[in-house]
Amino acid sequence: MSLLVLMYHRARAGLYGNSPEMLDAHFAHIARTYPHGLPGDPLEPGRLNVCLTFDDGYFDFYAKVFPLLKKHGLRALLGLPASFVREETGAAAADRLTVGNDESFLYPERGGFCTGPEIAEMTASGHVRIAAHGMTHVRLDKADANISLEIETPQFLLQSRFVSEPVQSFIFPYGRFSHSSLEAALLHYRYVFRIGGALNRNWDASLLYRVDADCMTSPDALFAPRRLLRYRARGWWNLLRSR
Ligand SMILES: [Zn+2]
Repeated sequence: MSLLVLMYHRARAGLYGNSPEMLDAHFAHIARTYPHGLPGDPLEPGRLNVCLTFDDGYFDFYAKVFPLLKKHGLRALLGLPASFVREETGAAAADRLTVGNDESFLYPERGGFCTGPEIAEMTASGHVRIAAHGMTHVRLDKADANISLEIETPQFLLQSRFVSEPVQSFIFPYGRFSHSSLEAALLHYRYVFRIGGALNRNWDASLLYRVDADCMTSPDALFAPRRLLRYRARGWWNLLRSR
């Protein structure tokens, strides 16, 4: 068990986030301590390898996180609910930073999410890779979920707008999935993510676990030996169950 995938949302203090200052110190700790990379990158054997994933694509990712990734030489996977990506917004940057999580989805015109040009700039930098995070950000463990729309469509949409190669990662909204939605995701994507608070052995796992990194109490809190032991134990337990 040597792969820790971290899940973040906002770059602001409070529920579902961390302050930019906390992220700055946390990224510095990761950059100097652990090998880090994106899905499919080679892992260093015998070390804890770290991957950063941010969900939803809030504007503070562009305004606060992207500069920090460049500063520390890190890369992150950005999960986008494809139908919420707009080409432009008339909202001012300062106002966009204040839009709440729910409001970003309910009132996209307030500019709570990154725009197309912002995402294109980030992917071109090499510091950000995009993942599909559903089309409309609904739970995919529900019987009435439109699996084709939510899983296949965002791959085409994101690829045609932002990257030349297929989008290879899918992040289940809310970490929820059903047997059929998991099957569909595995059919179309090479890397499929849930939550679950566990380490992974490597990138080959059919379903990759992530650890919640919002609301950190210190820059290295997630790496405390007792915590890592818990993530590792869950990883082994998941592996045994899957056999
Ligand atoms: Zn989400």
